[in-house]
Amino acid sequence: MNAPPKTTVNANLFCRLFDGLDDPGRLAIETIDGARISYGDLISRAGQMANVLADRGVKPGDRVAAQTEKSVPGLVLYLATVRAGAVYLPLNTAYTLNELEYFITDAEPSLVVCDPSKAEGIGAIAAKVGARVETLGPDGNGSLTAAAASAKPEFATVPRADDDLAAILYTSGTTGRSKGAMLTHDNLASNSLSLVDYWRFTDKDVLIHALPIYHTHGLFVASNVTLFARASMIFLPKFDPEAIIKLMARATVLMGVPTFYTRLLQSPALNKESTKHMRLFVSGSAPLLADTHREWFARTGHAVLERYGMTETNMNTSNPYDGERVAGAVGHPLPGVSVRVTDPETGQELARDAIGMIEVKGPNVFKGYWRMPEKTKAEFRDDGFFITGDLGKIDAKGYVHILGRGKDLVISGGFNVYPKEIESEIDAMPGVIESAVIGVPHADFGEGVTAVLVCDKGASIDEISVLKALDGRLAKFKMPKRVFVVNELPRNAMGKVQKNILRDTYADIYAKAK
Ligand code: AMP
Repeated sequence: MNAPPKTTVNANLFCRLFDGLDDPGRLAIETIDGARISYGDLISRAGQMANVLADRGVKPGDRVAAQTEKSVPGLVLYLATVRAGAVYLPLNTAYTLNELEYFITDAEPSLVVCDPSKAEGIGAIAAKVGARVETLGPDGNGSLTAAAASAKPEFATVPRADDDLAAILYTSGTTGRSKGAMLTHDNLASNSLSLVDYWRFTDKDVLIHALPIYHTHGLFVASNVTLFARASMIFLPKFDPEAIIKLMARATVLMGVPTFYTRLLQSPALNKESTKHMRLFVSGSAPLLADTHREWFARTGHAVLERYGMTETNMNTSNPYDGERVAGAVGHPLPGVSVRVTDPETGQELARDAIGMIEVKGPNVFKGYWRMPEKTKAEFRDDGFFITGDLGKIDAKGYVHILGRGKDLVISGGFNVYPKEIESEIDAMPGVIESAVIGVPHADFGEGVTAVLVCDKGASIDEISVLKALDGRLAKFKMPKRVFVVNELPRNAMGKVQKNILRDTYADIYAKAK
């Protein structure tokens, strides 16, 4: 167990991360071009940048929005914002100007940091809310770092309470408006400290950091856990399977989304020898196929540890470090986190193994949606549980299983069809790599169960063979009405299958059939 950090009166996450540091020369971050940043450097750089923020008029409680490529100064900006008592608002680098307009006008930041190439377009939007603009390029250069270089490193970390906001992260919002999840200093600190213990992080760990830092996984789970443990991380600008396999010779932990694991498995260089220095592989943000879990174990001798979290809640559950890491399950609630499964209509708690809505409560759960009190109220129960929107169950051994987003539930002929159940049946067929089951408008049934799948090259799988294989294995109402074989499923940067895109693609198939 790691010793808890020294208690401070200032609950600012920055103090909790760095107070009591006894060895400022210890390595914190290295980059693939050979830069090495110690804990002391990181603190000084955060001080310099915090001074620039204060100089640009950023006050405690103000939002600092950032749309920048992954870089060490990008991470320093997060730390500096928190240190200055402001609220960090990272934005997915894929967002267009049109999308950014919504986030910036909704969050009303006092400063927006962006790539130099976007300064003009973003500047026009920022002007609408009176925000200043600074630039930061993928190479770490820009007006922000130029100003920081001559600023002084000393900065008195602004006092914050546990409940004050440290960050706002907008949810991906595939339906309706994207919502800003308000995360407090204690939400972030308590969750990371819990993970340090649960996953046995120590100052000997070296994390391969290949995730983006605009999302909870790469920003909070990967970075905060490493820093709390006084471990170090190797910062990769993006996912690069061959580079990652080489780094495994001197690293100990990889945190990834499921696509990392499926892509790494495609490399012949992945084997027991190349992974023998590693102690932990963590997966999350999207479901890891049970087949991938098994194949990874067979190839490397390591059981991937799958965990479950979301932007609003940080991490909720994790497979155990020592006990059985169950393929297809997301493990037990983390210490201090309560998880229950309820009837989506009545909110009544359900028995073990019954499928329903997953609800969570704990110090990890966010404070609410930014400027959306009604939406916040609607998504919390009176006893403080947050309604995650994920459907799932808790099995007899207490492992939580996710069966998909509630909005992905298919209702066909009045019956509930849980996509995961059909997907598991299809995925088990020889030659099938993966599948996604969606509901598509259907005049008779309301929604028609529709399967889209990807198979091995050369596999002779088509609609008829799939339907034949499923016949007798699934109740009639669960049977797909149509099956499509495609080259790949649409995914976002976090590896999530974008079912909304599939629903749009196949929107009128049953209309056409009539
Ligand atoms: P995000 O807010 O982008 O982190 O997305 C959170 C959502 O990702 C959750 O509500 C789940 O639907 C999904 N998710 C995260 N981790 C897992 C997992 N291990 N297995 C299945 N779904 C997951």
